[in-house]
This record gives sequence, structure tokens and C-alpha cells, in this order.
Amino acid sequence: MPKLSVEQLDLQGKRVFLRADLNVPLAGRGVADDTRLRAVLPTLQHCLKAGASVILASHLGRPKGKPDPQHSLAPVANRLEELLGQPVPLAPDCVGEAVENLARALKPGECLLLENLRFHPGEEANDPAFAEALARLADCYVNDAFAASHRAHASLVALTQYLKPAAAGLLMRRELEALGQILDHPDRPLVAILGGAKVSDKLGLIHRFLGKVDCLLIGGAMAFTFLKALGHDPGRSLVEPELVDQARQVLAQARARGIQVGLPVDTVVASGPESAEAVRTVNVRQIPPGLMGVDIGQVTLARFKEALRPARTVIWNGPMGVFENPAFATGTIELARAVAGSSAFTVVGGGDTVAAVHQAGVAEKLGYLSTAGGAFLEFLEGRELPGVDALSEA
Ligand code: ADP
Ligand code: MG
Repeated sequence: MPKLSVEQLDLQGKRVFLRADLNVPLAGRGVADDTRLRAVLPTLQHCLKAGASVILASHLGRPKGKPDPQHSLAPVANRLEELLGQPVPLAPDCVGEAVENLARALKPGECLLLENLRFHPGEEANDPAFAEALARLADCYVNDAFAASHRAHASLVALTQYLKPAAAGLLMRRELEALGQILDHPDRPLVAILGGAKVSDKLGLIHRFLGKVDCLLIGGAMAFTFLKALGHDPGRSLVEPELVDQARQVLAQARARGIQVGLPVDTVVASGPESAEAVRTVNVRQIPPGLMGVDIGQVTLARFKEALRPARTVIWNGPMGVFENPAFATGTIELARAVAGSSAFTVVGGGDTVAAVHQAGVAEKLGYLSTAGGAFLEFLEGRELPGVDALSEA
């Protein structure tokens, strides 16, 4: 069922509670990376232009339910003010009479940033009384915090009981459309690339993909659990022994469904993830006992690129190796370039994968780059996100 969108609301003269994800990394008194602030600007500007006043709210870090100056949104207010080009005053708190007065005093086209929602334990507890206090600040609700919407917190869920209608912001809508489309009506062939550290982090995703994709390419540390399932000795590579049986079943299911599976055939080996350089590249059947696989080899890379060629849709999560170490970043960076160069609709997500894509300098060439981290993974796994579920129907 499609969700109500902010564009469908009559905003003239209304006070909008805009739940955003302004949880940015800080550096001293400044914002280290303002990507998330820029991402919410379209929704914020849309509301202000439409004649609403906006009460902007977010969490920042983990202040454990009490005020903590280290987790104040003050640096966010300053940066947002620069980006927006108009004042963004910071309220002293997010609930209470003083804040209600500030919200009431706003004129159409003005905004106010609330202090960190997590300064109150009611936020993470999804407490109805806290939600009711937040609801007193506004007339309607917009959620543009897809990245936080896998959590049933008060500003994302309980609040929608007290503040209606509850609409999706523009960023939220784009994310729902891009991610919904690729698994529900993908242009085929659909190729999924999975990598990263652990099979256990991605089991939900693997099982969902088994019912959807035409081709599954597996790299990163997680590949070694699959290679072990095929009887190869992974040396000191990261393996999850308790998942070897599951990996074997996944491969059998893929075969039964006619899904093409690509696993590494060669790997760069080193004595550890922090080594200054690789020892050499070996066939995955010949990993020396004392060494670990830290990147996919060139033959694997060529095969993965080949598998990408016919793709009309590509979804990628998880680096191919220890890309944080420049010595072992080649496979991931080259794959990022190949995905970006593909004529398919490409969707990439995951905290580390997004970092790798930026490192490769190809972020602008992707169809959709999701910065939603955990929410991206849960949505693709097919789980209901409480914050999305709570929104009004269109
Ligand atoms: P994402 O955040 O994009 O979902 P993950 O967190 O699942 O990705 O995986 C990223 C991590 O996986 C990185 O820290 C990377 O170093 C690690 N990794 C990838 N390949 C290997 C490998 N062969 N050995 C050890 N760690 C690996
Ligand atoms: Mg990660």
C-alpha cells in the first residue's frame, strides 16, 4: 500500500513535525560529514516554501536517555543554517512548555530544531506519554528518516498515533521507491553482489535474494564460509564454522532454482588484515595454512565483471576485501567502478560499501546509493520497518 507523501499535504499555515536523520559524525564543535543534512534539505525546503513552519527533530549518537552536551545538536543547527541560508534556532529541549512556546511563535517559512530526542528515555522506549508531548508541538507529521525507521522509537512510531496525518518525506519516498522496485519489479537479469565480513550479518538477505535474483556473486570474508562448504581449506581466512552447513544449503537451493552463483576462484592472501602488503594471489584451492584471504583476485574480478555484463539491475552490499587497507582495496574499488559503469539500474548500500564507493569516486554514477545502513538491509530482507509501517496510507 503506498504511503502518504509530503507532497500530498496541504501545508499552508501548518506546523510540521519533521523527523529527520541528522545523526552526523561530529569533529570537535563542527560536523565532519554533512551528507545527511544535505539529504533532508529538499523536504525541509518543500515544507517551508509551501507555507509551513517546521519543527525539525532527530537523534544524535547514544546519549542514554539523559541530556549530555557531547550529543547536543548545536553543531547540526549551525551547519544546517549555512546550508539552508536562513536561521535554524536550536530549542533547549525537545518537549516541555518552553519548547511549545517556541514552536507556537514560528511564522510560516520559519523552522526550529529540537534538541536531541534521545535526551529522554521515552524516545527509545517508544513511550506514548513522550510521544504525546512531542505531538503538542505541531499539526502534522512527516518522516524523512528512513535510516532510523527500522527502530520502533517514539518519534518514529508512537508519535503517529497523536499527530495525523503522518506522511513520508521526499528522501523517504525515494528510498522506498528505489528499494521497492528492485526486488518487486526488477528489470532482468537481476544480479546481486554480496560481500563483507560475516555470513551471519547477511543471512536474511541471502535467503531473500534466493527467491528474487538471477545471479548471486559472493565475495569478501563471507565467501570463505561458502568455499569451506565446497570443501576448500580457507587457511586463516575468516570463516564462520557454525554456518558452513547453511552455506551448503544455500548453494544447493540456488542450484535447484537455476540461480547462477559466483564465488571467488582466486584470492589475495596476507598474514593479516593490517599487513603492509599482500604475500601473493593464489587459487582458492591453495590457500597456505598460515595466511588469510584479504581481497578477491584478478581472475575473480574479471569473472564478476563478466557476470555483470548482461545485468539490467544490480544490487550490491558488502566490500570484496579489507578495503580499509589500501593494499587490499583493489578488488572492491575495481568492482565499484564496474558497477558504476554498468548500463543496468544499480543500487548500492551498506555503511562500509558506501564508504568504498566514495573511495572509488563513483558515487554519482550509481542509480541509487542508499545511506540507510541497517534500515537498508532490513528493508531488503523483506522485514516491515516500524517507522514506515506507521505512516498514513495515501
Ligand atoms: P556493509 O557495512 O557495507 O554492510 P559489512 O559491514 O558487512 O559491509 O562488511 C565490511 C567489512 O568487511 C569491512 O570492514 C571489511 O574489512 C570486511 N572484509 C571484507 N572482506 C574481508 C576479508 N576477506 N577478510 C576480513 N575482512 C573482510
Ligand atoms: Mg558495516
